[in-house]
Amino acid sequence: MTEKIYLNDSYCKEFSATVVSCGKKDNLYEIILDKTAFFPEGGGQSADCGTIDGNTVTDVQEKNGVVVHTTDKEIPVGKEVECAIDWELRFSRMQSHSGEHIVSGVAHTLFDCTNVGFHMSDTLMTVDLDKALSAEDIARIELLSNQAIYKNLEIKAIYPTKEELENLDFRSKIELSDDARIVIIGDIDTCACCAPHVARTGEIGIIKIVNAYSYKQGTRIEMLAGINALSDYASLNLANKELMGLLSASRFSVNDAVVKQNEQLLSLKTQNAQMSKRLALLELEPVNVGDSVYAITKNLTYDELRHCANSLQEQGAKTCILLSEAEEGYLYVVASKERDVREIVKELNAKFSGKGGGKPDYAQGKLIGDVEELKKAMEEKLKK
Ligand SMILES: [Zn+2]
Repeated sequence: MTEKIYLNDSYCKEFSATVVSCGKKDNLYEIILDKTAFFPEGGGQSADCGTIDGNTVTDVQEKNGVVVHTTDKEIPVGKEVECAIDWELRFSRMQSHSGEHIVSGVAHTLFDCTNVGFHMSDTLMTVDLDKALSAEDIARIELLSNQAIYKNLEIKAIYPTKEELENLDFRSKIELSDDARIVIIGDIDTCACCAPHVARTGEIGIIKIVNAYSYKQGTRIEMLAGINALSDYASLNLANKELMGLLSASRFSVNDAVVKQNEQLLSLKTQNAQMSKRLALLELEPVNVGDSVYAITKNLTYDELRHCANSLQEQGAKTCILLSEAEEGYLYVVASKERDVREIVKELNAKFSGKGGGKPDYAQGKLIGDVEELKKAMEEKLKK
């Protein structure tokens, strides 16, 4: 069994140890030391990073009480080695993990919630609670959690006997073995946990719940604590500052400015569509065939073509065939108040590899063909 320094001294950053074994596995080496401050992956927390005699430790796992460190270089058995853990990373994880205990403890006290799932990454933590909580409930949990930080409560780990354990009220996510480790945070939380924690709640600095939503039968909370919460705030503040500049808005009016801009955009889009339709009509050069008209134009949408046909009909045209040159072939609309346009469309489709159709008074589709042949065909159809 490895002597686990991290269980009783979570602030040990550097230590000396002796190599007990060094085995090769694939291209890496598995090092076992007589004692270690490297926390192995467990309890939702990732394995510590750092170095053993200057060699990078890429993974740390515990197997039957023995802590196995993975490195990329061989280290001789019996050698006394100098070890260092990545303290910045470890401390932020301690802040996060202690913060999660506080939030779970507060949710348990306030709403009798049980933590049924916990995931911790170096950017965000998720906590799954078994009860549906409102936005007000979440705000209360966040406030009380931060008040626990302001009180700078002591965080300690104890190893109760079996008898003591039976009389202890605590939250637990793991099956307890004989050497149960209980982490107590003042009067806020008591929970079985194998991970290193900060010594006092004040070291967490801040807890921020960034999102909460219904998950399964309960609530999933997304949260940050410590330096990660501060970085998150800094990023959001920077993003807000950029938006303030772009929108000429003050710090808390970015949202209003975006809503206003969206309204303006919508109004401009409507205006633009109306102007495009008007312009399409102005640029159209209709050819009269008796009481009917045809025209060939370009770059118009079905909507714009339809608008032109409606206007021409209002001006007295009985039947309109309008074509707009597209990337490949032509878009067409056919509209009439006196004849079934499906008959015209059927013939045009057949002659010019066309696709499309519609109702007796309106149809649209696509054609491919020579412009002079198309003109001829439209004229013939409108003469009938
Ligand atoms: Zn824990």
